[in-house]
Amino acid sequence: MELLDKYIGKIKKDYIAKLDVEEKPIEALFDLGEVREKPLLLPSPSEPELMRHFVKLSEENYHIDKGMYPLGSCTMKYNPKVCEDIARLPGFIGIHPEAPESQIQGALQLMYELGEFLKEISGLDAITLQPEAGAHGELTGLLITRAYFKSRNEDRKIVLVPDTAHGTNPASSSRAGFVVEKIKSNLDGILEPDSIREAMSEDVAVLMITNPNTLGIFETHIAELAEILHSYGALLYMDGANLNALMGKARSGDFGVDIMHFNLHKTFSTPHGGGGPGSGPVAVCSKLSSFLPVPIIDFDGEKYYFNRDLQNSIGRVSAFYGAFSVMVKAYVYIRLLGGEGLEEVTEQAVINSNYLLTKLKEVYNLPYGKNCMHEFVLSGSDFKEFGIRTLDIAKRLLDYGYHAPTVYFPLIVPEALMIEPTETESKESLDGFIEAMINISNEAKKYPDKVKHAPSNTPVGRLDEVKVNRELNVRW
Ligand SMILES: *Cc1c(COP(=O)(O)O)cnc(C)c1O
Repeated sequence: MELLDKYIGKIKKDYIAKLDVEEKPIEALFDLGEVREKPLLLPSPSEPELMRHFVKLSEENYHIDKGMYPLGSCTMKYNPKVCEDIARLPGFIGIHPEAPESQIQGALQLMYELGEFLKEISGLDAITLQPEAGAHGELTGLLITRAYFKSRNEDRKIVLVPDTAHGTNPASSSRAGFVVEKIKSNLDGILEPDSIREAMSEDVAVLMITNPNTLGIFETHIAELAEILHSYGALLYMDGANLNALMGKARSGDFGVDIMHFNLHKTFSTPHGGGGPGSGPVAVCSKLSSFLPVPIIDFDGEKYYFNRDLQNSIGRVSAFYGAFSVMVKAYVYIRLLGGEGLEEVTEQAVINSNYLLTKLKEVYNLPYGKNCMHEFVLSGSDFKEFGIRTLDIAKRLLDYGYHAPTVYFPLIVPEALMIEPTETESKESLDGFIEAMINISNEAKKYPDKVKHAPSNTPVGRLDEVKVNRELNVRW
């Protein structure tokens, strides 16, 4: 018993955060008079009835095993089933979060090696796997930025954010206590070095850039932008959500990035959506490594361990060590494909996207870029004269059996319609999508009512967007 008490004491000391509210007995929290006396009457269907129920629900839903997602990696690219199978192995799902390091060497090794892979993919020097989403990674990166300047007794307030940025970039900046300054992209849809030069001062902490940006265009001046920032002592942050267009081809560390987050759930195979699950590791250059959240995972040549000894750490950003099952899937995905395989993913994603772009720009307006990386953004503004908006086109796509693409983002494209086919779609499936898009453009001109009232082949028709958000009907 004594040994056990000692052990529990150690766990409490090392792993469990101290209680910072008043300790209360459970009776004080619940009115025991409210506890149900008779068992709840739950339906008890037979096995076939139950199966039919769930199969029916799955048929009414849209999923990657049913068809293509026109905004791929961001929403849902194909996630190999083997990643799921391995993440579900008892040895992984049975780990207690407070198990001692000696009993979880395999899990620690997996996380350590995943970190090493991501460092190699990004060309950066140190990493934390703790953040649990891309936006959480952004916040972590910005807190690191703040701590870095504080350690230098500098009080830099400004984060530069291009007008193509994802909404989470300015939101995370404000959350971390910075002031956001928006930078306009040029007519080619990328940042001009002169716009950054003009915006620079000793007050600028960091530029947050997505590369390729959300228009699907590579920021060709990225190395020069990094030089300008560094000459003022500022940092360059890269939002890595679009890594599906870079993996194995270009490394952010090589073009001057100091901090970058990954969206493991987007690039490295985790089905996500509706709020989770995600993982947003953050890699940094060597001068920022001591600011990472503790603990990081280290290897001393014999065993893997949680290293809590980081001089300038911003502290924990996650309970325990983040979204472990997402890390397992990312690890399996990377090991499965290897370096060459990841490079092929990038190539195929970019080829597929350019094939769609070439065919669709004949029928839809393409405001930026002649070609693209892994995605591109069309505008539905040409259909306004027929009373049709991009939202109508997206809804009509549902009738053709496709998931709706992302619409009205990025904000610099009016009536934006964003398309990213991803690497796994065959030419046949891309041709099917092209045909649907061409049909819809013809319908929009000839039978606009059909498009305006779409969808009509889905379990529910056109919904009132405000009402569905305010009066969620989960019983339907
Ligand atoms: C998805 C995305 C984010 C946010 O990532 P989450 O994992 O959803 O929090 C940030 N930036 C860009 C460009 C994205 O596509």
